[in-house]
Amino acid sequence: MNFSKKVLEVTPSITLELNSKAIELEKQGIDIVKLTAGEPDFPTPNSIIEAAYKAMKEGKTKYTNSSGIIELRKKISEYIKGRTNIEYKTNQIVVSNGGKQALYNVLLALLNEKDEVIIFDPCWVSYEAQIKIAGGNTVHVSLKEENNFLPTEEQLRKAITSKTKAILINSPNNPTGTVYPLETLKMIAKLSKEYGFYVISDEVYELLVYEGKHYSIVNIDNMIERTIIINALSKTWSMTGWRVGYCVGPEDLIKQVSKIQSHTTSNINTPAQYAALAAFDVKDEVEKMYTSFKERKEYVSKELKRIGLKFVEPAGAFYFFINIKEFGIKDTDFAKQLLDEVKLAVVPGSGFFKDGFIRISFATSKENLKKALERLESFVNKLR
Ligand code: PLP
Repeated sequence: MNFSKKVLEVTPSITLELNSKAIELEKQGIDIVKLTAGEPDFPTPNSIIEAAYKAMKEGKTKYTNSSGIIELRKKISEYIKGRTNIEYKTNQIVVSNGGKQALYNVLLALLNEKDEVIIFDPCWVSYEAQIKIAGGNTVHVSLKEENNFLPTEEQLRKAITSKTKAILINSPNNPTGTVYPLETLKMIAKLSKEYGFYVISDEVYELLVYEGKHYSIVNIDNMIERTIIINALSKTWSMTGWRVGYCVGPEDLIKQVSKIQSHTTSNINTPAQYAALAAFDVKDEVEKMYTSFKERKEYVSKELKRIGLKFVEPAGAFYFFINIKEFGIKDTDFAKQLLDEVKLAVVPGSGFFKDGFIRISFATSKENLKKALERLESFVNKLR
């Protein structure tokens, strides 16, 4: 069959694939510990569920404005004002099906054939696929562990061409947990100004920072007109399945995004929009989840050090990106053997375009983490 070249170039999401494999084994009654999924183990806070239920009971089950109900966009605008002190109008915000669709819409609105988007390796699995499907080309910049997985000006200057349309940054980062310091953002902003490209800033983990502070590049001088923020309620509010995300940016660009969404998915499902509206007022449970993540991070960090594994301490998000080069096995084989031999599911770094590493998620219970680390320890001790 003659399928589109664009789609044939793309491979399925490795994280979702590995997670499904682990779930399948679990269904067969095998005791698997999964550290694959990038989603909190906590239930969605009850008041959020109640808000969706109430909305449905009140008949809020029909189409809405395709960019999202105005109340929700106002709430998002207030939230962003609180974080950045920037006042966005509701027509600068489009609510989409998760951060994933928010990003894809922006790429569709921006990219012409052969336009380039710079991404940093390791990076989230879907960036390259989305850029390709949207018709652009990816330019990979390989980040170094010894630089704390941060890009340098020299690396960026080498990657920028006349076709560079945007740079995609993600802080706090999946998979490394790196939180970009202000100097790095200033350097990217300086280049964006010099060359006129956009910065797409994926901030879905912005509230999950354990060390240091999250800065948004939009707050750097003259970046409002060239920054598009991607965000979602998925991680912080434990709402991955509700599919609520949004993009925020310059009015002319968001107008195009809005047009795309109106012709593709229309509005995200209506009760989820009311759920999201309530979510922004949930403080205690969000705080509790944050505190658990922080404790778990400290626990895992201590254990990994005891086991003698090498990693850059994550400052945010909920992942450890562990260096496994000392074992001299390909990361994909390492992950496969880990699953086969000790029934522990992790994601190989090459899924994020970085061989020689594995990613583990600590968004799971302490008991699971304990079990997982015991299995990991026995596995690596056998290899040593
Ligand atoms: N961006 C990053 C870096 C992520 O890790 C994820 C989810 O894993 C997303 C975006 C997309 O999130 P959502 O589930 O809201 O589509």
